[in-house]
Amino acid sequence: MSRVFSGIQPTGNLHLGNYLGAIRNWVTMQDAYEAIFCVVDLHAITVPQDPAVLRRGIREMTAALLASGLDPARCILFQQSQVRVHAELAWVLSCSARMGWLGRMTQFKEKSGKDREGASVGLFTYPVLQAADILAYKATHVPVGDDQKQHLELARDIAQKFNTDYGVDLFPLPEPVIQGPATRIMSLRDGSAKMSKSDPSDAARINMTDDADAIAQKIKRARTDDDALPSEPAGLAGRPEAANLVAIMAALENVSVADVLTRHGGQGFGQFKPALADVMVAVLAPITARFTELCKDTAYLDTVLAGGAVRARAIAEPVLAQVHRAIGFTS
Ligand code: ATP
Ligand code: MG
Repeated sequence: MSRVFSGIQPTGNLHLGNYLGAIRNWVTMQDAYEAIFCVVDLHAITVPQDPAVLRRGIREMTAALLASGLDPARCILFQQSQVRVHAELAWVLSCSARMGWLGRMTQFKEKSGKDREGASVGLFTYPVLQAADILAYKATHVPVGDDQKQHLELARDIAQKFNTDYGVDLFPLPEPVIQGPATRIMSLRDGSAKMSKSDPSDAARINMTDDADAIAQKIKRARTDDDALPSEPAGLAGRPEAANLVAIMAALENVSVADVLTRHGGQGFGQFKPALADVMVAVLAPITARFTELCKDTAYLDTVLAGGAVRARAIAEPVLAQVHRAIGFTS
């Protein structure tokens, strides 16, 4: 069976974009693949973190993933720092990766901003650690949002370079899995910016912890134009905010944009927005309720992560041993 790996940072404000673009796909993948999912705390410290907030964030992300439908009986769910192979393999791979390759990564350019000299070395080598995450399990498939395609390309280049450097066929080249209509949910306040955890405006995103009232308010205040919805997808061209709300409805209902417009074409936003809020609440409310319950049971969350780490190590440690042999560290 093909093996899939993916990770998510335990940094707050989990939002509807994360759910529709990533987590919901992971839930479906549990049965089609041997699935390995990771709360990537080593990645989180590439930018400053408060230890107490990070500690809480790791458990909350675990609770959110379980509440969304990840099932420790059907996938491996664990915390990155509990499996040392990630950091060790990242070092080895950083000796195969080239400075020039990393220098071309747009996420580093965006996240380091103007103060490139002041960015952490970890932020620069982040994609090497991401390659190690994937290759430690010889994952064949990686679900990627729009924002992660370049990093997966780099992971393939690093795997290929290692294989060539040491004359082995050790790492398979991981394939991207691009899924669903919701690879890029946009901000509710600006149809040209993606919905994001780090957006300072809370009104720009639907948080997974928002209650029915907050959801209704945010949708009501979401930016739109004044026209009615078209009856066909072509009519959404040049209307990014309208297109975003229709895409969200389609993703929530698991139907196409055309289907949504067949039902809602001709409606103004005064009519469409409350319908969208209702569907959103119906999908999110049960997840939020389970999330709140799970957050109270930290012992259970810790047990799930510890069990996942044992299973992850059982796969990753033999891969690292093969790497050590290929390099000449062991015979
Ligand atoms: P940050 O602003 O801190 O980068 P983020 O909102 O981009 O946060 P990440 O933790 O970087 O969240 O991403 C987690 C997962 O969610 C990734 O798989 C990413 O592709 C996906 N994702 C993030 N934002 C969106 C979005 N707006 N639409 C669809 N998928 C998204
Ligand atoms: Mg991001």
